[in-house]
Amino acid sequence: MSDRQLANQRANFNLALKRSRCPKDNGKVLEVSMPDVVCEKCSTMYVLAIQSGTFTMRWRLVEKQNPQPVIQHTESKEVIQREVIVKVPCKYCGTLNDLASAKFCSGCGAPVK
Ligand SMILES: [Zn+2]
Ligand SMILES: [Zn+2]
Repeated sequence: MSDRQLANQRANFNLALKRSRCPKDNGKVLEVSMPDVVCEKCSTMYVLAIQSGTFTMRWRLVEKQNPQPVIQHTESKEVIQREVIVKVPCKYCGTLNDLASAKFCSGCGAPVK
């Protein structure tokens, strides 16, 4: 882009900026950094999009979507493994037996189910 084009663009931008109003509250829009503008009242961010022809110039305010903050989940690689031991009381004597490994009750010798 040539200096002249850039100067033109700059002039167009300034003109559009002056004439633009926030569609939400009719507030003035201020330049952040061409082509970004911000509403003076509600702080909504817009892009001032300009289409300029030889004799005409059109522009519009395009609301910038608020970029979602990037939430990074840091997950620990460390996995805590717990052995789950299910103990069941013997139906004859009430002794707790390990369901997974005990075949017979350690108290009375009855079969563990
Ligand atoms: Zn506004
Ligand atoms: Zn038992």
